[in-house]
Amino acid sequence: MMKLVHDSTELHDCRGGVFVPTMGALHDGHITLMKRARELAGARPVVVSIFVNPTQFNEKSDFERYPRNLERDAALCEGAGVDVLFAPTVEVVYPPGHATHPPMLPAVAAEPGLEDAHRQGHFGGVCMVCKRLFELVRPRQAVFGEKDWQQLAVVRAMVRELGGAWEGAPLEIIGHPTVREADGLAMSSRNTLLGPNHRRRAAALVKCLIEAGRYADPARAEEAGRLVLLANLVEPEYVAVRDAATLGPVRPGEAARCLVAARVGGVRLIDNAVWPGFAL
Ligand code: AMP
Repeated sequence: MMKLVHDSTELHDCRGGVFVPTMGALHDGHITLMKRARELAGARPVVVSIFVNPTQFNEKSDFERYPRNLERDAALCEGAGVDVLFAPTVEVVYPPGHATHPPMLPAVAAEPGLEDAHRQGHFGGVCMVCKRLFELVRPRQAVFGEKDWQQLAVVRAMVRELGGAWEGAPLEIIGHPTVREADGLAMSSRNTLLGPNHRRRAAALVKCLIEAGRYADPARAEEAGRLVLLANLVEPEYVAVRDAATLGPVRPGEAARCLVAARVGGVRLIDNAVWPGFAL
């Protein structure tokens, strides 16, 4: 039986497990992360959190219309073999008097000019919430999706800068590949906000990554990717080919990644893939 807990005091007996933080509105991408966590955990507990974190939303309207349905999400977690579902209130995560300033940000959270530049304050909020959730849950491992590539890099860097440990206990950050819909669109809770017409157009993001992957030169790849978005009436925010780890300029012999952010209707979507040579 899965345990649903709202207060951090009920988390004592699930330390040292595998943790999957989410904002709910669960889809198969989240479920895949939970199944990965289940495999990694063995007899240790799998803990999932559902918390729509106000400090990582740079647009109030995005926070307000973010889909929420705890009952449905809890049933999905139980089906994925989760032991503990932690669904705290804002007061539990940020008790009165908690430090409101974000922790020191790693370079990858502030310098690339990608999500950091387009969502002011976002990674401050992400770091703040991860720090709190890691303190409360105290996992041995945490699983994050590659879908949010810069976020994964930021959380990895934050933990690495603390020597691979959290308050003295070792913590490993594990990345899991992006789970996609049949047409290649990366699964996202925000996809449910798309009408049928915009939903069809949203596949342009993955097409953009495939097209960019056909060019060996980063600038040409970015341009080719942008053209795919525009041809599908999708508004590009950025198409960027970067070093996969630092998100700085590509370095010869090092892994690279193409990252895209775009607006479809009023909905902002992101995706990324290995570069060059990405295929579904
Ligand atoms: P969110 O609820 O959107 O904050 O996402 C919670 C976790 O699920 C994050 O680590 C995301 O990167 C991951 N995630 C979201 N969508 C996908 C996807 N399509 N494939 C894999 N992981 C995902």
